[in-house]
Amino acid sequence: MSRNLPLLSAAEVAKHDKPTDIWVTLYQRKVYNVSTFVKEHPGGASIVYPYAGKDITAIMKDIESHEHSESAYEMLDEDMLVGYLATDKEEEELLNNKNKTPVEVTLAKSDSDDYDMYEFHDHLPALDKLEIKTDYNEDVKKHKFLDLNKPLLGQVLFGKFNRDFYVDQVHRPRHYGKGSAPLFGNFLEPLSLTPWWVVPLVWLPANFYIFYVGFTNQHPITALSMWAMGLFIWTLVEYFLHRVIFHLDGYLPDHSVFFTIHFLLHGVHHYLPMDEYRLVLPPALFIILAFPFYKLVFSLLPFYMACSGFAGGTLGYIMYDITHYMLHHGNLPQFLQDLKTYHLEHHYKNYQLGFGVTSTFWDVVFGTEITTTFDKKK
Ligand SMILES: [Zn+2]
Ligand SMILES: [Zn+2]
Ligand SMILES: [Zn+2]
Repeated sequence: MSRNLPLLSAAEVAKHDKPTDIWVTLYQRKVYNVSTFVKEHPGGASIVYPYAGKDITAIMKDIESHEHSESAYEMLDEDMLVGYLATDKEEEELLNNKNKTPVEVTLAKSDSDDYDMYEFHDHLPALDKLEIKTDYNEDVKKHKFLDLNKPLLGQVLFGKFNRDFYVDQVHRPRHYGKGSAPLFGNFLEPLSLTPWWVVPLVWLPANFYIFYVGFTNQHPITALSMWAMGLFIWTLVEYFLHRVIFHLDGYLPDHSVFFTIHFLLHGVHHYLPMDEYRLVLPPALFIILAFPFYKLVFSLLPFYMACSGFAGGTLGYIMYDITHYMLHHGNLPQFLQDLKTYHLEHHYKNYQLGFGVTSTFWDVVFGTEITTTFDKKK
């Protein structure tokens, strides 16, 4: 960076702390004059005011407050950089140098560049950091887990991993880049990819049909109460399915066949969280998982009540899978942003907490809210 900009003392920067005259610093190093920009700030001007004269590194990264993309940083550098905050040593150099010769500014590599998604972090980074392509060769060399250059399923099945290693590695996020990593590497490959819209396309018509059968053969109040009950029970099923079945994790039998099943069910989604075609349940897997519930509901309840209840429950599933997809890939309205952060923290902060996807309700009830960052030593 060879821009001819002045070194500024901390006292000088702190003077620009009025709503009409705002300077802020990034990394305690770069000084920006954001006085005019603040009126156009997408998050509003008033959230910037408390930072006038102060450092914004932490708040820029805090997506709960307001997400910032790479381009926000570029804009600051290009349009608003006015100088560099002097270090103590530089300030001394400035004061003692009578000829006012410029002091050389050396910039450390900005620390926004070295987010490593493989490690679990207290705070989510700007979301584009989650789409930095993993260096396949370096990853397999360093972690001795899967090689993203080759079909994954065979590596899980024939790799000689022990359970603790598999469970730890599979939950550490990687990003394949464009497209989807090969699972089978043969003619079966397309079967491993499920676009999100397959879920409503395949299941909504069936869902409406059984709802209709239940509704037209009972008193509407009976039908609707059973339906609502089914929907409510689904939220519990969603929680325990994710917490107990998908994250069997530490209770998995120590055998690669079980690792492979785990990988297909949910492991691959933690290993590659942003792969949009390995996110919703393929219809075949749904049938296998739903079958015991179907048997249970239809043996416990009279037929038409069972239809209504099962329609409510499976609608819950359909909404869950679509919500899950949207939390990873959708452009969400404000009220869903918190849910998105919460679910991404399940991936990037602590996969042993935060099992609720469509709501945090059961996490609160069962004490599995995301409070701490995953720690391998525990
Ligand atoms: Zn798990
Ligand atoms: Zn997810
Ligand atoms: Zn999970």
